[in-house]
Amino acid sequence: MTKILIVGGGYAGLYTARGLERQLGAAEAEITIVDPLPYMTYLPFLPEVAAGSIEPRHAVVSLRRHLSRTRVIQASVTFVDHAAKVATIQPELGEASTLEYDVIVMTAGSVSRTFPIAGVADEAIGMKTIEEAAAVRDRLIGNFARAAALPLGPERDRLLTTVVVGGGFAGIETIAELRDFATHLLSRFPEITFDEVRFHLVEAMGRIMPEVSATTADWVVEDLRKRGVDVHLETQLQSAQDGVCELSTGDRFGSDLIIWTAGVMANPVVRKTDLPLDDRGRITALATLQVAKDGVVVPGAWTAGDVSAVPDKSKTPGPGGFCVPNAQHAVRQAKLLSKNIVAVLRDEAPREYIHDNLGAVAGLGIGNGVFQSGKIAIKGPLAWLAHRGYHVMAMPMWERKLRVFGGWWNNFWLGRDIVELSAREQPRVAFETFASRPKPKVDA
Ligand SMILES: Cc1cc2nc3c(=O)[nH]c(=O)nc-3n(C[C@H](O)[C@H](O)[C@H](O)COP(=O)(O)OP(=O)(O)OC[C@H]3O[C@@H](n4cnc5c(N)ncnc54)[C@H](O)[C@@H]3O)c2cc1C
Repeated sequence: MTKILIVGGGYAGLYTARGLERQLGAAEAEITIVDPLPYMTYLPFLPEVAAGSIEPRHAVVSLRRHLSRTRVIQASVTFVDHAAKVATIQPELGEASTLEYDVIVMTAGSVSRTFPIAGVADEAIGMKTIEEAAAVRDRLIGNFARAAALPLGPERDRLLTTVVVGGGFAGIETIAELRDFATHLLSRFPEITFDEVRFHLVEAMGRIMPEVSATTADWVVEDLRKRGVDVHLETQLQSAQDGVCELSTGDRFGSDLIIWTAGVMANPVVRKTDLPLDDRGRITALATLQVAKDGVVVPGAWTAGDVSAVPDKSKTPGPGGFCVPNAQHAVRQAKLLSKNIVAVLRDEAPREYIHDNLGAVAGLGIGNGVFQSGKIAIKGPLAWLAHRGYHVMAMPMWERKLRVFGGWWNNFWLGRDIVELSAREQPRVAFETFASRPKPKVDA
């Protein structure tokens, strides 16, 4: 029985496990997936979660529910000794233990990439996890409530100022969705005016969204500006110390919500392995998704998704000739990866990964979006419908598709839910405040 260990149950890990479950008999292989989280997160939905259009739980997929034959271990892989074929795993509670395997699949994804800018590590939040997206939603709504109770002044301005750093897809979708949500919130907060609510997008390059044409990107910038977003191009965030943003242009403003979306890097856990890495810390691989050192296959090791440097053999290869870190690649690589593992186990030849980009589609708030495929660009409501249609179908599992679609349907008729539940982070406060305690013993 071949022991297959999958490190990371995100896009690539979940689809690899599902592929292996389908193709391998129960007597052929024992599949194990290790992830500190019990779910796969559908990251393209995070901006809509932050904007209250999708319930946080609907944007994640339970691994235990949807993997029937795979052993799910909720823990972090902290070390891999591939020469000995042993991985060390650390659960949240208890001692670390080791796991032996025959085949390893490294799909640990990526993490937010930051630069050593004062205040960013302490004040900013990313947009890479469901927890971050839900916290941003709560913070935005909570800040409206706090600001509404304050007189005009710097503290009120700070609460009503949101900053997004990074003009890639994630950053643009985030700021566009949040601006739309904030405008919607104004109808429930008569104490606050449109002009008081400030949104700043800070992008170091001279343009946004490298995945779309310059004309489409310019249209998005204009659209954001019309909706009240200050777009700062060719501008760097120089400090966020104590929540005060200082830009390279000399602009300075306080913000209670600084969202960092300026890039990702391969999960640093791969540095705790003996697998080969490139200069950007990604696991080097062949187009067959086999881990390879200087073009020579490392037997029994496979990789896919954001953590890997997979040669891009399509007509329009990504930077440096490698696949860019996106879900389109992660899912398709994982599907092929599972087939290739099975092929190699059965002494057949693995196939190369070749995928031509399908285009890019982004939601920019309710009823607004942008779609680009080659020279074809669609903007506005049609692109928004394409965005929702594509993503609800791409969301894994019908059970999840229906929950997401059901939420949109309900919101269409009932409006977005604007309740914030940040108090859940201190759930015992109410009980503790009123709980009876034993009287202190009085010494005889
Ligand atoms: C806001 C946002 C919007 C996006 N929108 C799009 C889009 O519209 N279209 C698109 O194509 N792409 C989009 N992407 C990119 C896409 O989501 C990623 O490229 C994709 O998730 C990569 O899949 P992955 O499996 O490599 O990593 P992930 O899906 O991130 O999965 C990695 C998994 O590894 C686990 N893990 C981490 N450390 C360990 C460890 N030590 N041990 C075990 N497990 C570990 C994590 O918990 C996670 O479950 C977006 C990304 C973001 C952040």
